[in-house]
Amino acid sequence: NPALSVRDLRKTYDNRVEALKGVSLDVMPGDFFALLGPNGAGKSTLIGIVSSLVNLSSGSVGIFGIDLARDRAAAMRQIGLVPQEINFNMFEKPVDILVNYAGFYGVPREEALKRAEVELRRAQLWEKANVMSRTLSGGMKRRLMIARAMMTAPRLLILDEPTAGVDIEIRRGMWKTLKDINASGTTIILTTHYLEEAESLCRNVAIIDRGRIVEQGPMRTLLAKL
Ligand code: ADP
Ligand code: ADP
Repeated sequence: NPALSVRDLRKTYDNRVEALKGVSLDVMPGDFFALLGPNGAGKSTLIGIVSSLVNLSSGSVGIFGIDLARDRAAAMRQIGLVPQEINFNMFEKPVDILVNYAGFYGVPREEALKRAEVELRRAQLWEKANVMSRTLSGGMKRRLMIARAMMTAPRLLILDEPTAGVDIEIRRGMWKTLKDINASGTTIILTTHYLEEAESLCRNVAIIDRGRIVEQGPMRTLLAKL
């Protein structure tokens, strides 16, 4: 089964904006996949539908073979979502943020502590496990968001514009963490409007423009066309 299978997906918002006009795509397990497109193309809408934050108008979404409309809860258990805004409690320590998050999703405390160490190391935050999160740098805070999403051991990690508005040094640190996560077998899908980001990270890409997929395939095939 594909990690993500989207068929003829359409979304018309209440204000009659047609954000998606029949999008189909497959993302294979283990892939590092970019959804690349300009502002307003429909990227956030697509990610929102896949992560159950936005209702679809028509079409279907499968996550590791689980139909989103049939079994939303089971489908959501496969997914880790990294929101764009940093939204953890700045007055908690990174290790507590991770362990409490896992606890909320039913991971036993012992197991959560083990996972927190793995994820903090992978996010280059192990030395910062017990500082007040408020004191972390911007890049560290963003990597902590990624580490938190990994605490439920998702098979598919989804990031919406993970590096929008951050400088190149912060971006590189996030890229390293994401590459490590993908290397350990987690499928990653990210949206971006930076070709450079898609190029440095992703094996496969779909280009979306005004609600339609205009190109889809391996990153290097696409680069050869540009
Ligand atoms: P849904 O059909 O998924 O319920 P809605 O059309 O009801 O979505 O809009 C959800 C929210 O987003 C509303 O509060 C709406 O005001 C807000 N919104 C409206 N237009 C835009 C826009 N162009 N970009 C972002 N958010 C918008
Ligand atoms: P992207 O993530 O590629 O910038 P979006 O999915 O946010 O694109 O937006 C696609 C289109 O849908 C845009 O025209 C946007 O204004 C509109 N849109 C996004 N969210 C809403 C909403 N909640 N309500 C109404 N229109 C929206």
